[in-house]
Amino acid sequence: MIPINRPMIGEEEIQAVIKVLRSGILTEKSGCGPFASKFEKAFADYVGSKYAISLNNGTSALHAALIAAGVRPKDEVIVPSFTFVATAEVVVLAGARPVFVDIDPKTYCMNPEEAKNVINRRTKAMIPVHLYGHPCDMNPLIECAREHGIVVIEDAAQAHGAEYKGKKAGVLGDLACFSFYATKNMTTGEGGMITTNNEELTEKVRLIRSHGEKKPYETVMIGHNYRLPEIEAAIGIVQLGRLPKFLEARRKNATFLVKELLSVESLQMPMEHDECKHSWYLFTVRLKESNSKIRNKMVKKLREEHVGAAVYYPIPIHKMPYYKLLGKVNLPETEEAAQQVISLPVHPAIQEVELDHIVSAVKKVVASLAIN
Ligand SMILES: *Cc1c(COP(=O)(O)O)cnc(C)c1O
Repeated sequence: MIPINRPMIGEEEIQAVIKVLRSGILTEKSGCGPFASKFEKAFADYVGSKYAISLNNGTSALHAALIAAGVRPKDEVIVPSFTFVATAEVVVLAGARPVFVDIDPKTYCMNPEEAKNVINRRTKAMIPVHLYGHPCDMNPLIECAREHGIVVIEDAAQAHGAEYKGKKAGVLGDLACFSFYATKNMTTGEGGMITTNNEELTEKVRLIRSHGEKKPYETVMIGHNYRLPEIEAAIGIVQLGRLPKFLEARRKNATFLVKELLSVESLQMPMEHDECKHSWYLFTVRLKESNSKIRNKMVKKLREEHVGAAVYYPIPIHKMPYYKLLGKVNLPETEEAAQQVISLPVHPAIQEVELDHIVSAVKKVVASLAIN
């Protein structure tokens, strides 16, 4: 099976872990041990932000960002429904209400017009998600956020290295949250990072990361243990150095797949907006004018051909059993996309012969679906 994703771990990462183990410092109370500090500086440099704060995963990064932004019970936070559940989960964890909005069917990112429509005086923040690694159309979002005093938190968990109008994901909103989960463009196993240019928010996130302690045993606000361990930080430093090469390989694979699959009429290829740079975390095609039954059949058949196809995401958040209880919303573009999308392997470990195989398997399966 050609897996949908695979962590790229080499000897350098292994040596980095050994170095931490031999150093005897595995973590640090404030969350900022020597490797974590170095990782933060390197990451801020990479995205072009003033500050970067490491955390133990992308979900805790999103949660800490919301609390730092001042989101409180009864507030509303605008989120897409077509995303990984963590984007909405952290809103509920903060005691606030996620307000789901529809997507742009071409990029699968939050539609700025839809976001504008749901703003009211309870709206405190919005979390645009750079889904699959394609940046959201940020300018209109920022503009209306400024107008209404709303904090913009980028969910950049899938967008390491993605760009919007020449700027990297990570400096497009007030805060940005990254994940280093094992499948992401770069990994520490589990890990996260917040980037921002705002010093006050940085201080708050640092407090939240470690029990709200300004000095040891002097808690000034409610926090958590959201610290990134030193072993993970050491892996992160190596992975960040390798990220440009990973991204180049993903882009090369994506370009090849688009070129070879463009002629398949029933499939819509993923797009990359002129002023954007995709990070190609996922290569997601769309089975036009189809439904989930046929799409699921296609996934099953591709897997029989040893192509690890997968669906991100088959159930939009507002349709999940828990979130359904929050109230009914009508998101036609989201619901249609959830029935039609299918992601193909695009990661850097794919060999050229495997790319050829993916192309021929997709063509074969699509042809067989047309007959049946
Ligand atoms: C992976 C991911 C997260 C959560 O990150 P974790 O590190 O797994 O907690 C949040 N949002 C999106 C869009 C993701 O893909």
